[in-house]
Amino acid sequence: MKVFISVDMEGISGLVRWADVSSQGIDFERNRSLMTADANAAVEGAFAAGATEVIVEENHGVEDLCVLLMDEVHPRCSVIRGAGRHGSTTAAGLDESVGVVLLVGHHGRAGSYPGIMAHTISYGMFKLVRLGGNPIGEADFFAIRAGELGVPIGMVSGDQIAAEQVSAICPWAETVIVKEALGNQSGHCIPPTRARPMIQAGAECAVKRAMAGELEPFTAISGPYNFEVELRNPVSDNMRENLNSLDEFEILDDKVIGITAPNMNLGFRRVAYLGYADRAGVTKY
Ligand SMILES: [Zn+2]
Repeated sequence: MKVFISVDMEGISGLVRWADVSSQGIDFERNRSLMTADANAAVEGAFAAGATEVIVEENHGVEDLCVLLMDEVHPRCSVIRGAGRHGSTTAAGLDESVGVVLLVGHHGRAGSYPGIMAHTISYGMFKLVRLGGNPIGEADFFAIRAGELGVPIGMVSGDQIAAEQVSAICPWAETVIVKEALGNQSGHCIPPTRARPMIQAGAECAVKRAMAGELEPFTAISGPYNFEVELRNPVSDNMRENLNSLDEFEILDDKVIGITAPNMNLGFRRVAYLGYADRAGVTKY
């Protein structure tokens, strides 16, 4: 079975604040190592369960999505990294040939409190992202996109909020809670050395259960999709001009953008585009 692991940074064991996951933070280099180790634990668990191939896709949007330390990455997996991938930037390696998706280091959706570094796609630009009127997060995007391809979500690691939000839509998924959120930038953490065997065990269990046919693709929500993105700041002149040239975007009021998409590959890309749609003349995504 081919296993797809999406690795983000906000839900990595031991990390609680924005400075932990941005290149300016004093511990960023060390934290890249922690991120790599959590991902490796999931890779190890997947192979222990009998995976034939494990693809790790980098999902953390700083440094052009090149944050894992390649010389520390598990030797048996491969890694998709860098910006400008074909398809959705964070799910370019996800297709029908994948047997199960594991979410490592994921986080709660925008608007969650508590919820360590909770956000949806762009913390700086988006206050909230809604789909069909309900707030959604990155894990929801993955569950829906994977569901379109017939692939189940098998595991999530992160804080208790990320775990609860995935459990609510994919109750069959393994949840590995590596820290308890106390606020948006505080938590009660176990040492990463203790979290890693938990992630490994969760991944092994998830892949075994996927092979046994015990996991379901999430299909309760399907396209076409209607999103509303609530911006933190009013639409800029550049953004207004860009969006006015694109039929799939509608400026609903000065802080709310409506987006339509026939499938979640385009849904992902269109919502992500809004995060840089204030650059003059940029209308490609
Ligand atoms: Zn991230």
